[in-house]
Amino acid sequence: MRTTNWILTAALLVSVSAAAQQAADAQASAQPATPDTTETAQPRQQAATRPEQQSTPAASQPAATSEQQPGTQAIATPPTVPAPTTMDQVVNLFIEREHGLIKALANRTPVVETYLQNLAADAQLGPVPSEDHYFLGRLDMGETVDRRDYLKEEQKSMQSRLLGGFQKLYKVQYQPMGFSWMVYADRTDFDREHYDFRYVRREFLGDVRCLVFDVTPKPKSGRGRFLGRLWVEDQGYNIVRLNGTYYPAPRNSYFFHMDSWRLNLIPGYWVPAFIYSEEGDFSAGVKNKLAFKAQTRIWGYDLKKGGKDDELTNIRVDSVQDTSATAQDASPLQAERVWQQQAEDNVVERLTAAGLLAPEGDVDRILQTVVNNLEVTNNIDLPRPVRTRVLLTSPLETFSVGNTIVISRGLVDVLPDEASLAAVLSHELAHIVLGHNLGSKYAFNDRMLFSDDVTYQNLGFKHIPEEEVAADKKAVEFLKNSPYAQKLDNVGLFLKALQQRAPALSALLTTHLGNPLAEGGQVGRLSALATQGPALDNNKLDQIAALPLGGRVKINPWDDKAEMVKTAPVAITSARDKMPFEVTPFFPRLSRYGANAVPAAAPTTAANGTPNQGSN
Ligand SMILES: [Zn+2]
Repeated sequence: MRTTNWILTAALLVSVSAAAQQAADAQASAQPATPDTTETAQPRQQAATRPEQQSTPAASQPAATSEQQPGTQAIATPPTVPAPTTMDQVVNLFIEREHGLIKALANRTPVVETYLQNLAADAQLGPVPSEDHYFLGRLDMGETVDRRDYLKEEQKSMQSRLLGGFQKLYKVQYQPMGFSWMVYADRTDFDREHYDFRYVRREFLGDVRCLVFDVTPKPKSGRGRFLGRLWVEDQGYNIVRLNGTYYPAPRNSYFFHMDSWRLNLIPGYWVPAFIYSEEGDFSAGVKNKLAFKAQTRIWGYDLKKGGKDDELTNIRVDSVQDTSATAQDASPLQAERVWQQQAEDNVVERLTAAGLLAPEGDVDRILQTVVNNLEVTNNIDLPRPVRTRVLLTSPLETFSVGNTIVISRGLVDVLPDEASLAAVLSHELAHIVLGHNLGSKYAFNDRMLFSDDVTYQNLGFKHIPEEEVAADKKAVEFLKNSPYAQKLDNVGLFLKALQQRAPALSALLTTHLGNPLAEGGQVGRLSALATQGPALDNNKLDQIAALPLGGRVKINPWDDKAEMVKTAPVAITSARDKMPFEVTPFFPRLSRYGANAVPAAAPTTAANGTPNQGSN
């Protein structure tokens, strides 16, 4: 197990790293904090000299960051600290731990996704999405936190490096970078020189008891300082949540408000995982109608850096597995199938390496149960079993490569029930049954050699319109023979809800690898079922046509494993509670590393895994 390695490495590195860290600190303070950005609202100030490592008990504790070879993924566990006796000591401890975290993650390049919905007021439903934006990239957590995007069209705004929250020029322009600031309170100057800390109270976040502090920048400590509240767990004194904004902002730009959560995914460290942002005020008389809400998710901390050198180690020369039972040569048909399997394996492996696909896990078992229900009742007997995998991203998307059906986390989230899940999976199953095999060109390994941030330019699984129509037709046949035949009204309702919101959610409906469910604001997928069922009625509180994002699948940001969220049903009391396809604040249930070593019984049947209604 990797955990054991960490512990062993930790023991060896603790003594070395104390000295190494002091040296690194001295270096960091000599560095200008804002290299190439001008006129921007960057929450960091020109380099103020870092105070010397004081002789507090906290400062003498090394953060035990390992000096790592590129590619080795171990992080040394910090040593346990003596229990502090005063709040002053607590402050010293969490400042020290924050610097330890910044160092520990300095060579990580996790995936960062921001999905943002602009809001407009609706008399019945309250603030509803009016348009949306999507950003996906890799976060370089080194000297300056930097963000490299996967999406071509966003590159321009990335290059301009306007790091301000968002800039009010001719139109509001969101800067993806801004949404990832609150991974740390202050990258360079998180110390007593620049901030006042005031203890507020104790409070539980999930299973974790925390000490709560209000943080204010000292007068004249510079622009773009953290202003808000933080929660510190009371065993290792790590910050587990930050809530607030940056202050003061330069002219013509804003810092938006953020709520940033960390998870204890490796021993001794709480790593940034979720950031919720929201602005706007819909009360009467407010002039500034700019309003949005956005979710930022970070995952893939354990991914290898996507550099060119790494790519070369990814060539698969040994991936051909002769699946024939005997020692005979492959027949032409067998050769074709092995070839397709090779392409499928290459793509699945490449997408996983790019941090876009979850490793095989619990959610797949649920998806496979549903696929199996469709196969058995339709007497589908394929030469190779159909597999399923979860795409880690939010946009609503399915595609298939070889016999693997891929469905996005966002789509699993918003589907209201198992029948609707069966409907979207049946379309891909139909492609497989009809032999609409795409992507056999990916059996050539050279086609897997690209850097992670151009994955979407190098892979694609879009079918021609004729194949789409044929797959929809076949899918409806499958559904009508299946255990879901009596529940297709729900599928119709889901498609109606999707149609209602589609014009405002073009980013959520923009697919990057497969065919879209809707194009130009018009839902095309499974249109034969779209008229099925009752009319969509927002006022009917028992009619749940689609769910908010984030209610079903949760991702472990360290190893990218996906599992089903376990939420207790919450009663819906008004039409505004439904929030179909919408983003909501995060409230993860915090627990300590290893506390849930035995996962609560993973759902093994589809029926258990897809509750009737998820709520946050
Ligand atoms: Zn299709």
